Amino acid sequence: MEERQPVIPVSRWRWGVAFVIFMTLLFCGRLWWLQIYQGEHLGEKARSRYLRAIVTRAPRGEILDRNGKVLATNEPSFNIALFPAEFSMDSADPGKICKVIGIPRETLESAIAKIKANKVPLFEPVRLVVGADFATVTRVLERSWELPGIIVLEEPLRRYPYGKLAAHVLGHVGAVTDEELKQRKDLELFDWTGKMGLERVYDKFLQGEHGREIVEVDARGAPIRRIRREPAQPGQVLVTTLDLELQKVAEASLQGKRGAVVAIDPRNGEVLVMASSPTFDPNWFSKGIKPELWRWLVSHKAHPMQNRAIATAHPPGSTFKVVTATAALIYGKATPKTRISCGGGRIVGRRFFRCWRRHGTVDMVKAIGQSCDTYFYTLGLAVGPERLAHIASLMGLGAKTGIDLPGEIKGVLPSPKWKRERYRERWYGGDTANMSIGQGYLSATPIQMTLVACAIANNGVIYQPHLVKERRSPDGKILGRVEPKVLRRIHAPVSVWNTVKQGMLAAVYGPGGTARLLADLPIKVAGKTGSSEHRKGAKTHAWFIAFAPADNPQIALCVMVEEAGHGGEVAVPIAKQILQAFASKLQAR
Ligand SMILES: [Zn+2]
Repeated sequence: MEERQPVIPVSRWRWGVAFVIFMTLLFCGRLWWLQIYQGEHLGEKARSRYLRAIVTRAPRGEILDRNGKVLATNEPSFNIALFPAEFSMDSADPGKICKVIGIPRETLESAIAKIKANKVPLFEPVRLVVGADFATVTRVLERSWELPGIIVLEEPLRRYPYGKLAAHVLGHVGAVTDEELKQRKDLELFDWTGKMGLERVYDKFLQGEHGREIVEVDARGAPIRRIRREPAQPGQVLVTTLDLELQKVAEASLQGKRGAVVAIDPRNGEVLVMASSPTFDPNWFSKGIKPELWRWLVSHKAHPMQNRAIATAHPPGSTFKVVTATAALIYGKATPKTRISCGGGRIVGRRFFRCWRRHGTVDMVKAIGQSCDTYFYTLGLAVGPERLAHIASLMGLGAKTGIDLPGEIKGVLPSPKWKRERYRERWYGGDTANMSIGQGYLSATPIQMTLVACAIANNGVIYQPHLVKERRSPDGKILGRVEPKVLRRIHAPVSVWNTVKQGMLAAVYGPGGTARLLADLPIKVAGKTGSSEHRKGAKTHAWFIAFAPADNPQIALCVMVEEAGHGGEVAVPIAKQILQAFASKLQAR
């Protein structure tokens, strides 16, 4: 029998070939599908397990008082940000993002607009919420898979532990402005900078250096592991000259008033106290101030943001008489024994210039102690306006003191030349008489009047007032120290200063003295009151300048309260509280 080869029928063979071809095509098609068609998408997915590099913010340097008490520091805070590198414009759901984070739609839209306009680097998070609460942070972390490109950052937040205390001196922070970015190369987009006070003046020292953190993240943007970390370098520490305890006393006694207190150590120019009322809380600005609060602050009639110690000038009234006395003694127009009779005023030109009382016959010490106007009209007229203005300028009036704060003004120190230029009018004897008692065109800031007290306390040597003693590295190394610097030196015999001091002592301890309220303090105080007129019908501005202990002055101060009445009744009681606290400190030493 013939063996028959098994034969695959043609039809089956064909079918097999077709099957193989089909499978090959299918495989190739799948490959094509995966590699070409879907390639872009899968590649993105693989790449998305990538390294995220984020700039970490440096904590600002701390600000301390003279004894190391912390006046400004930082606290950790959670900020929610949009991370451009992981954010997709097309797939994002703005409505959902805003709902989860709890922000208005405009906030998100303006952030997106910035990214679209290429104003933001790919790896620079755009903060949407600064200082987010715990509930919001939890919500964002829990739903992170729904919110690609929304990340949570832990960053330092500026904090002022004493709230309003020394607000005008410390200042506050805020988001960097385009102007600042243009001016300073050390700043980056989304930095925060000092906007006022020491925060502003010393910003470049307080800033520190940003760090960088590289983290591996998964496809959803959740961190897997930290690859590298260059820690941020905190800013320098500022040690100020302020005395926290005296500052507290000054601010408490100014509460509810419009005014300022300045106290300086006359031996070196260190500012111990600088208080201005009304005030504000710099913490309001640390997360970005709410618009309604900002509007309230800047439209408030009493201008809470204004530092009245350096940025408000008023006629200094009778506190200026110590300047007139100094000028008369220096130019030999009077001696301590010069006696003048006060019958309630005197005639100058064709006008009668009144004294606030009939003092009878007074010598210089009594005239200062009892604040006789008649006496100083006469002295001022004898000295003449030019020379009076010259001595006043040597004592610190009519020019900025140059303190390390922004916004200082110089007040007005008038003279015949000034009046000609300003008003095209000649100077009259009456102008001199007004100026002699601290009225008329003359105006001074509280810090300038503190310098007048310093000049007398220190026999004519005035030190540059300053608020920062030292700059330190975060680990305590001293990087810069401010040495006391003589601002002005008035050459005059010691007898001149002694006479004026005697007059200021008579104000506290003499019969009829205007500051007798201070006579029971445990330290010897020399002072001069003032009540300056500024507007018809309004209460006078209350002034007081003083220094203590009188025979070895370690504090010179000025109190000014606007439209509050007489210096002796309003300003002296405030000074008393500060001097009382200072005396306790001296005793405790
Ligand atoms: Zn008088």
